[in-house]
Amino acid sequence: LPMQPETICSISVVIPVFQEEANLAALCDQLWPVLEGLPLDVEVIFVDDGSSDGSFAMLREIADTRAGVRVISFRRNSGQTAAIQAGIDAATHDVIVPLDADLQNDPEDIPRLLDKLRQGWDVVSGWRKHRMDAVVRRNFLSRMANRMISRVTGVALHDYGCSLKAYRSSVVKGVRLYGEMHRFLPLYAAMQGAKVTE
Ligand code: UDP
Ligand code: MG
Repeated sequence: LPMQPETICSISVVIPVFQEEANLAALCDQLWPVLEGLPLDVEVIFVDDGSSDGSFAMLREIADTRAGVRVISFRRNSGQTAAIQAGIDAATHDVIVPLDADLQNDPEDIPRLLDKLRQGWDVVSGWRKHRMDAVVRRNFLSRMANRMISRVTGVALHDYGCSLKAYRSSVVKGVRLYGEMHRFLPLYAAMQGAKVTE
């Protein structure tokens, strides 16, 4: 059956940050134009994961100068999964998009993820087709692992490791993540009945 297109009114971008002072300015330069071009209410939730560099000070400055920016701060480093968990818990909008702070994800891809959601999908997972870190691309084990996970779970994704994803909030709100589980959030969503694509 053709899927019903569904309206999206708002988006929460969740950005885990650990020792990223060198990247935050460039990240913002890339991110704001993309977000300003979206016909949506936007909130950006930075989660400072106990950085000891200038990241937190920079984030506070960003939050002071831009509407819709919130900063969560961990007292100590707890890992990317915990940071994303906190961002999901704090998010209030229709769609949640986790984004890395280290410039490895291109914010320009966000509108393309949203297009997929509008076609009726609940989760869109990024797929790094032309990975910069060629060593990993050639990693046979990483390819085998992806294939095995797909076979076992019935959710066929090429690239679980890509952090850039888009979720309808309803399929991830209430999730409890631990370990390195953020990579497998699409599987969790699929188990809740979500329609997952990449
Ligand atoms: N990160 C974090 N806590 C950590 C390690 C990383 O919040 O303990 C953030 C980091 O700042 C980045 C994202 O999580 O925005 C991905 O981290 P990293 O680039 O180290 O992971 P990889 O690209 O190797 O998956
Ligand atoms: Mg990275």
